[in-house]
Amino acid sequence: MSDLQFFGHIIDNEEVESLGGERFDAWNPWTREVWAQAADGMAADADRAVASARRAFDEGPWPRLGRVERGKAIHRLADLMEARADDLAWMDSTNMAKPFEQAKHDVARSVWNFRFFADHQRDHCGETFPMDSGHHTYSEFGPAGVVAAISPWNFPLMMASWKIAPAIAWGNTCIIKPSEDTPASVTLLGRLAAEAGFPPGVLNVLNGHGAPAGSSLTGDDRVDRVTFTGSSTTGKLVMASAATHLAPVSLELGGKGANIIFEDADLENAVYWAVEAIFRNAGQICLAGSRLFIHRSIADEFMRRFVAAAEALTIGDPFDPSTRFSSLASKRHFDKVASYVESARALGGTVLTGGVADDGTWVVRPTIVTDLALDAAPYCEEIFGPVCVVNVFDTEAEVVHLANDTRYGLNAMLFTENLSRAHRVASALRAGTVWVNCFFIRDLRTPFGGVGDSGVGREGGNFSREFFTEPKAVVMQIDRKG
Ligand code: NAD
Repeated sequence: MSDLQFFGHIIDNEEVESLGGERFDAWNPWTREVWAQAADGMAADADRAVASARRAFDEGPWPRLGRVERGKAIHRLADLMEARADDLAWMDSTNMAKPFEQAKHDVARSVWNFRFFADHQRDHCGETFPMDSGHHTYSEFGPAGVVAAISPWNFPLMMASWKIAPAIAWGNTCIIKPSEDTPASVTLLGRLAAEAGFPPGVLNVLNGHGAPAGSSLTGDDRVDRVTFTGSSTTGKLVMASAATHLAPVSLELGGKGANIIFEDADLENAVYWAVEAIFRNAGQICLAGSRLFIHRSIADEFMRRFVAAAEALTIGDPFDPSTRFSSLASKRHFDKVASYVESARALGGTVLTGGVADDGTWVVRPTIVTDLALDAAPYCEEIFGPVCVVNVFDTEAEVVHLANDTRYGLNAMLFTENLSRAHRVASALRAGTVWVNCFFIRDLRTPFGGVGDSGVGREGGNFSREFFTEPKAVVMQIDRKG
């Protein structure tokens, strides 16, 4: 008998093996050892999870519970998450080498996702309009049904909670499939939902790979909504699969965020956020500021400080409190990022600092590259690692053009002390989110999503409401005519 931890599927509030007993290994990328196993979901397991969620929606109490009681149940789950915050964070740190302090921060944000949507569905559940015609009309936001949610490995708990929270808050039932690289924290979340008293089938966790586990969910015509966060390539497959049964999709995909530093920026602040934007979570952030544009007049000074700050990041064991930066999340991902660094060199790029650690670990050090052509793959494509490509610019018009010259459009950052320019450029950038003089700050009431290859649709606040419900108009006669 192995003494590895095991993470099963959570179906009907029970933790179960795959019907055929299939399992896969979960790795600790810092120690490069297997630390756990998870159930490997096959089509039959997906079928079981969907059947459970369908039953819970069609016959169970959850959609009929009422907004107040549903909100209370979700707050109970949030309380349990807070009580187990260190365990949840420990799992994400172990599973993907995220520095523990950052993992704790992610857990706090995940808890807030649940609390926010628990309250939001109660307070934003309709609108009424008296009509001049002698009628009165109102909207209703009833649940859509069964939601299939598929999440990536870079923020294992946080990305999953971002989908699960609005889905269940609006009265749907949900099957979440976490990434095969990070099964642990989402499985613990499923255990906590059962402990919080969720009715069986409201939150099912299906562990396993993209295919067959994920693809079985997206192609199942008993699923009413598909919400997906992951790469643009997979997003296209997910959309095609959901289209076979006309399930609406919400896709949050890749990015190649522009980070623009104007000549009047507060340099200390800009350097701080430039480092966070590309080296936090070892650059494995869809929102990473991976294309940095610096005004020519400050380029030397900015780069001197930026390189020094990148080199000062303490690299090490994610559980060492001084660690700011650790290994990449898997060997497969390490190989991918390392090959981009190699190709940057081969294509004439200058690696100012960083590169592959070359000590047998899966670390790519904070890497800054200049002198790449605008059509070079490391400049254009999402690397999803700690690799920043740098360019200089002379004018505002030029940098807006450069920033928008990408097939992605998830986010952008700009640093300036000029108020008019801040608003003008924020408006001109083709991106779902623009941060001015900051990064990674988010209010759950605002839209979140991307343009072009970065996604389809928006989530957040009422945008999540539109996606996770079937809005209905009711028109009622008040004054009888004739
Ligand atoms: P991925 O596309 O490889 O996998 C994402 C999820 O999809 C995993 O759970 C995977 O098992 C599943 N999957 C794979 N093939 C599938 C299929 N055919 N059908 C259904 N599901 C399938 O992405 P990843 O490597 O896990 O994550 C990194 C990517 O996610 C990056 O591109 C990053 O930019 C993106 N991302 C985007 C956001 C955002 O909010 N826009 C946030 C985080 C990550």
